[in-house]
Amino acid sequence: MAVSSDIEKLKASVIKEIQAHRDQLRELSLKIHATPELGFHEVKAVAWLTQYLDENGFSIEQGICGLKTAFRGSYGKGKPAIALLAEYDALPKLGHACGHNLIAGCAVGSAVATKPVVDRFGGSVLVIGTPAEELYGGKAIMVERGAFNDVDIAMLVHPEVYDVVTTRALACIGLDIEFFGRAAHAAANPEVGINALEAMLQSFTAINSLRQHIKDTARIHGIITDGGEAANIVPAHSAGTFIVRAEDEAYLDELKERVLNCFVGAAVATGARLEYRWGEVCYAPLRNNLALARLYRQNMQSLGRKARLSNPTKGFGSTDMGNVSQVVPSIHPHIAIATKEVSTHSPEFAAAAASDAGIKGMLDGAKALAMTVCDLITNPEIFNRVKREFSRQ
Ligand SMILES: [Zn+2]
Ligand SMILES: [Zn+2]
Repeated sequence: MAVSSDIEKLKASVIKEIQAHRDQLRELSLKIHATPELGFHEVKAVAWLTQYLDENGFSIEQGICGLKTAFRGSYGKGKPAIALLAEYDALPKLGHACGHNLIAGCAVGSAVATKPVVDRFGGSVLVIGTPAEELYGGKAIMVERGAFNDVDIAMLVHPEVYDVVTTRALACIGLDIEFFGRAAHAAANPEVGINALEAMLQSFTAINSLRQHIKDTARIHGIITDGGEAANIVPAHSAGTFIVRAEDEAYLDELKERVLNCFVGAAVATGARLEYRWGEVCYAPLRNNLALARLYRQNMQSLGRKARLSNPTKGFGSTDMGNVSQVVPSIHPHIAIATKEVSTHSPEFAAAAASDAGIKGMLDGAKALAMTVCDLITNPEIFNRVKREFSRQ
């Protein structure tokens, strides 16, 4: 174990290292931002990220867990094995409106900066590249396929509008719906038609009624992806896609049944036939490791950022980092890159993800992560505290 003045020196040197790489990290994240790729198609992003890691002495395995755009870069050997997670998928039409280009830069930047720490104290630093966070839950699949079996601790910094160390993320699952009716002339023979669009609209009405009587942290939302062909044809087919979210998995199960009943009821009422398919992966709720969160917070504060322990607005979504946090001690802090009026998943947030504030957030996030890696690798007492908290939960 290193003495504390030694650790401070080490932290100063990793910060310097990130400063030295700032132009490359900026360029890397802006390139990803300018080339938005959807989940499981992030081919260019993965090529750029792995190239940067490779050039900086990391060994690379690509296509891990049977996923073409998942990867693992590692430096050093054995324990402790600290993983910094990268995301790099974009949103349909909105591009990098969740700022995953910055998560990617943050992960590789912090990992490369901690090489001297690994050289001196041992252990290993990993960058685990996790595709398709937005639409498919790549990490959920990777957890099931063993990507975190030899990992001790996992960290990911996500851009947001507050500096917050712990985040709340709901369990969530997708639901695809189809109604099958019977086409007919909408004016001449409406009595022989079965209206699949009406079944969908009644489902929305039923869900709206249900919504007033569920826990206020739960969420149900969806869109119609097919609502018919022409106004003069009774729609023979309708389709929609929905998401159901709840604070824990037990309530999610209860809610799933109640939501499904809305569609079943609409099918009975209209005579349309219902087909449904629950998503293959379920996003787990996020378990914040507080020992780890406090460590990261201290490091973030040393950079002059406020970094609150929890979100003042109670805003929450879901993340497949939840699944990771169920198997290894994890944090998923948020870093502010825009003013609080800006919402993620909006064009304004996409602009922020390529702004100077976005780059500053990425670099500060990388510094705080790298300093936290310093603490974990040089101080077994701290490392054990994080592990103990996880096993107690
Ligand atoms: Zn998102
Ligand atoms: Zn995101």
